[in-house]
Amino acid sequence: MSDAPHLTFDLDMPGVSRGHLVVPGGADHGELLLPVFSLNKGEGPRLLVTGGNHGDELEGPIVARRLIEWLPGAQMCGRVIVVPVLNPLALEAWSRNTPLDGLNLNRVFPGRANGSITHRIADAVSRVLLPMADTVFDLHSFGPKWDCLPAATTHPIADPDLMARTVRMAEAFKLPLTLVWPHNDTAGMFDITAQNQGKVFVCSEFGGGTVGADNLAIYEAGVRNALIALGLVEGKADYPIFRHQSFAQTLETRLSDELKSPAPGIFEPRCSVLDEVKQGDLIGILHSMNSLSAESIDIRAPETSIVLAIASGAHVDANKVVAYVARPLKI
Ligand SMILES: [Zn+2]
Repeated sequence: MSDAPHLTFDLDMPGVSRGHLVVPGGADHGELLLPVFSLNKGEGPRLLVTGGNHGDELEGPIVARRLIEWLPGAQMCGRVIVVPVLNPLALEAWSRNTPLDGLNLNRVFPGRANGSITHRIADAVSRVLLPMADTVFDLHSFGPKWDCLPAATTHPIADPDLMARTVRMAEAFKLPLTLVWPHNDTAGMFDITAQNQGKVFVCSEFGGGTVGADNLAIYEAGVRNALIALGLVEGKADYPIFRHQSFAQTLETRLSDELKSPAPGIFEPRCSVLDEVKQGDLIGILHSMNSLSAESIDIRAPETSIVLAIASGAHVDANKVVAYVARPLKI
């Protein structure tokens, strides 16, 4: 058992390298090997691309694999490191969190060397990979229970210069939506750890339901556009074909834009993503299944806004988010 996380190859080697990030073993799980691809073409931008942070978001790992295939024929300069799956234990279980310790990898950064397996993964990524990059793309999806627009997102960042650079990088994906999105539980997010070190971090989000060819094509084009904007790859940006082709906006959402279920039940959506809604418009209906004497509950728009994401007909517990709305970003 090795005591420190490390790579099985030298990142400074020129050209293509393939190997593993070794996450040391502990009481709960043995050594874990995360496949890592690196393409080092010397001077230039240093980019880290990660997928599989959450194990039920499969678009990211697929797009990361595609990237590994075409990058050797396209990358002009700089260094790109790709880790398609950050949390293989969650991925194999098709679970957001690691089944072994129940932890969400994206809430334990920068991790702990002596913690449980999820902490140790975060620790290995923070210590071995993050220092090698100036920009990070973490490829997420909304997961199977949501419908939402393909989006490049960031959280609000206190440093205005880093905020502006991050929004520009997110917009360079040229996805239908660029989104500034606050969370009330940002502690332990990969983003925060990277941003605290002054790095540009863009998180891409895709919905929903099943992994589809159209979404994958849009996602891949978005990542390619961002690589062009960074100067790593030559070419012209491509506006991914999308059913809402005319939509290209930067929106912001607030914590008060999270519309929550007032009770447990089945959520029935009554609007679609990108619908413009006015105050009081019906977003969806929550049907209680515990008691048929309980009235179904209307969930309505709090103010004029755009529907950003909506739960796709799932059973929800009380106080769970069933829809997000948003409005144009004003800087
Ligand atoms: Zn995620």
